[in-house]
Parts: sequence; C-alpha cells; structure tokens
Amino acid sequence: MVKPHKQALEVINVTKAYLPPREKLNQYIDRIYKSGWITNNGELVHELEKRLAKHLGVDHLVLVTNGTLALQIAYKTLNLTGEVITTPFSFVATTSSLMWEHLTPVFADIDPATFNIDPKNILKAITTQTSAVLPVHVFGNGCDIEAINEICTKYNIKIIYDAAQAFGVKYKDSSIINKGDASILSFHATKIFHTIEGGAIVFREKKHYENAKLLINFGISGYEKVDILGINAKMNEFQAAIGLCILDDIDDIIAERKKIWERYFQSFENSENLTLQKLNADCSNNYTYFPLVFKSEADLLGIKDALNSKDINPRRYFYPSLNRLRYIDNPVSCENSESIASRILCLPIFPGLDSDIQQRIINTVIETNQ
Ligand SMILES: *Cc1c(COP(=O)(O)O)cnc(C)c1O
Repeated sequence: MVKPHKQALEVINVTKAYLPPREKLNQYIDRIYKSGWITNNGELVHELEKRLAKHLGVDHLVLVTNGTLALQIAYKTLNLTGEVITTPFSFVATTSSLMWEHLTPVFADIDPATFNIDPKNILKAITTQTSAVLPVHVFGNGCDIEAINEICTKYNIKIIYDAAQAFGVKYKDSSIINKGDASILSFHATKIFHTIEGGAIVFREKKHYENAKLLINFGISGYEKVDILGINAKMNEFQAAIGLCILDDIDDIIAERKKIWERYFQSFENSENLTLQKLNADCSNNYTYFPLVFKSEADLLGIKDALNSKDINPRRYFYPSLNRLRYIDNPVSCENSESIASRILCLPIFPGLDSDIQQRIINTVIETNQ
C-alpha cells in the first residue's frame, strides 16, 4: 500500500518523489550486502527487467542508467544518421540528446490541442537526409500513432518514441511502448515510476535488444572480448532495489494521482479563461501531469506569482519551445509550440498532496484568472 511520506509544511512543488517503505527497501539492501554484487547486470537489475517487461507487456526491455542515455543508445542501435524529425514541445533532453549524437533535429510543429507532434508537419519536414522520427507522448498523452506509422512506413524511416512520461499508458489495450522501432522510458525521480535516476529502452526487434545490451556495457561480450564500440549506461543494484519496491506500489500511486487529477479536471473543465489538454481517446491516462493553458503569458505569470506567494510552485512545462534553444543552428519558427510553451503551467500533483492544499491551488487559479 502507498504510505505517502508526510507533506512538507512549507513548500509545495509540482511533484514530489515517491519513496518506498524503508522496511521493504532494507530487504533488498540486505540482499545486495550479502552478495556483495552492486552493479554490472546484477540479480536485482535482472529481476527488475523481468518484472517491468511483464508489468508493461513488452518483450525486449533494456534497463539503463537514465532516460537521456536510453535515447542515445536507441539512436546508436538503430543507426540513425543525418536528420531526425522531432517535436519542439518537450523536455530539453529530446533535442539535446540528438545533438549530442551529432544528429540534426528538424522540428515539426505540434497540434495545439494535444500538444503532440502533428503528423501533417512530419510529412512536410521529410528530406532525403531524414533517418527517423522522434515523437514524444507529451504528458503521457499518446501521439497519433497510426498516422505516424503510415508516413514512416511509406518513406522507410524509423520511429523512436520518447515515452519518458508515458509509463504504463495503454494504446487500444496494449502497451503504448510497443509502438515504433523503439520507445524509451525515464525513471527519473520526478516520473511516476522511478529508480532515482534510470530509464529503459524497449525494442520491437530482438536483434536490437541484443545489440543495445552490448552497447550499454562498453561493447564487451565476454571475458577479454570487446566486440563493438560501446559506452557505459548500466543501471546499478541500488537503483534496481528502489524500482522493485516502487513497482509493488505503482497501482496505488496511479490511483492516488487519479483522484487528484479528477478533482482538478472537474474544477477547470468548464473554465472560460483556460484550456486543458485534449486527450487521445484510444489511450489510458497515467495522471502524471495536470497542465493548464492560459489565454496569455501575462495571465500565466500572474497565476504563477499568486501561487508562488503561497509557497506553491507549479512549473512551466515546457518552456522554452525547443526550436528556440540557443544552440540550434538556423532556428525555424514553430508557431503552435511557441504559443503553448508561453502559456502553459503544470499544477502540483503527487500522492500525498493534501486536499485542503489542492483546494487552495484551485481557488487561487480561479480567483486570479477571472
Ligand atoms: C524526463 C524526460 C527525459 C529525460 O530522462 P532522464 O531520465 O531525466 O534523463 C527525456 N524526455 C522526456 C520527454 C522527459 O520527460
């Protein structure tokens, strides 16, 4: 069962990392001390990999040390080159990981209702240099998977979904991370399921899974045998111990978030001065974020100030729009993404958020946004 740790009296942030019960964690730590094996594909990493694959209903899941490396390993495994079409509305790692691997991000603007990449704009961005599309299921809201699939099949380009925020989301009754050539997850402390830092890649094909297993361990295939150029992206046993504990509680964590999410939804669904994310009707929700889009950036700043003055810290996810990052060469404009990025605010949502405090958040937004 979820036993939310005690609410901090002073400051309410957009999220709060869930910490598992100490007694349960201790049992795993005891195992680590007993074996003396603390990293390098140890038994807890193995156990977590198996349990996650089962929980998520996927076949080829590789655990890694964070979600950003999950993206980079996916690009390497699938041999991406040249240009990758991606969304300007995401966390910075979606773009920065491409550039770190010397791939060129080509931005295709979003649908302003769903906040996800618009397939029409993917089509317009394809060139002879395009090797892949990197869409994001923004706030866990599933992309237009069928349209993206159709385009990528026609032009023979790969699809990697940044599903960092879509843990546990189902698309038409099957796991959304089964779509595309690969999907990546982040298990950072701010995500619903976490291992403090961590992540995973799910591949459609077994050969890619096997290749990634080598890549994350320096390309070492056995004693005194280095097969390919690799890197170090291994998850360690302590990370896996946290994950194994939290996986036991994940259904309760989501149920708690759902209650908070629904209360926000009922409070804001008919508001005149703000809009909510349009959700994909074919997808389930993991209730990780509650974004509000205001009419102007000035409205947003007023509400943010009003909440901040009560020690409540919502976050501007995502700002700035990634096409405006200062290290992007030849920036293009992405009208929808820039407009949403300037007006969107995510409200606090996490297990243990006190209902009086939630009501205070709701009242402050409504009163300030008249
Ligand atoms: C969190 C996140 C990442 C990065 O994951 P880390 O585990 O923090 O490296 C990448 N993309 C998106 C959309 C994210 O939300």
